[in-house]
Amino acid sequence: MDFKSYIRDVPDFPKPGILFKDITPLLQDYRALHSAADNLLKDLEVGGIDKVVGMESRGFIFGPMLADRLEAGFVPIRKPGKLPYKTLSESYDLEYGTDTLEIHVDGIAKGDRILIHDDVLATGGTALATTKLIEKLGGLIIQCNFLIELSFLKGREKIKSHEVKALITY
Ligand code: AMP
Repeated sequence: MDFKSYIRDVPDFPKPGILFKDITPLLQDYRALHSAADNLLKDLEVGGIDKVVGMESRGFIFGPMLADRLEAGFVPIRKPGKLPYKTLSESYDLEYGTDTLEIHVDGIAKGDRILIHDDVLATGGTALATTKLIEKLGGLIIQCNFLIELSFLKGREKIKSHEVKALITY
């Protein structure tokens, strides 16, 4: 399937100069949605993953779908102040300033086998902070997978100690 044909480029969203990769055309089409999930799961087995970790907010779309197919749990990573229980935080640098991500301290148990999922791998800052949170809680990262990789931003290099997979590469 030509997955690229289901991704819409939206220029200057959410701010001038950003070419936003809109995945909603893919989500709207059952065959594309189902086939994208099949492909993201290609090298993974039921029983091989304990938790899928998804990043706010578009990691919450495929994350639980992949978790269900893998018979695994789902753990959200969120922006500060959104998770209600005790959290662990990790800050990371942006082009201008910093950002922080949080996870519930009981989201991952020592030795849990983890699949990380997000819609887009751009600079890799989000993914790197996520790997740090998981490893602080004792999780073992089996794979990081993304619908889209913007390879010219070299995010893959930030998380190169892990297996990284993307359905679509630009
Ligand atoms: P980064 O931390 O730079 O790898 O950015 C990753 C996060 O930003 C992901 O959660 C994406 O959803 C979002 N993102 C970054 N760039 C884009 C883009 N061009 N189109 C859509 N989402 C993006």
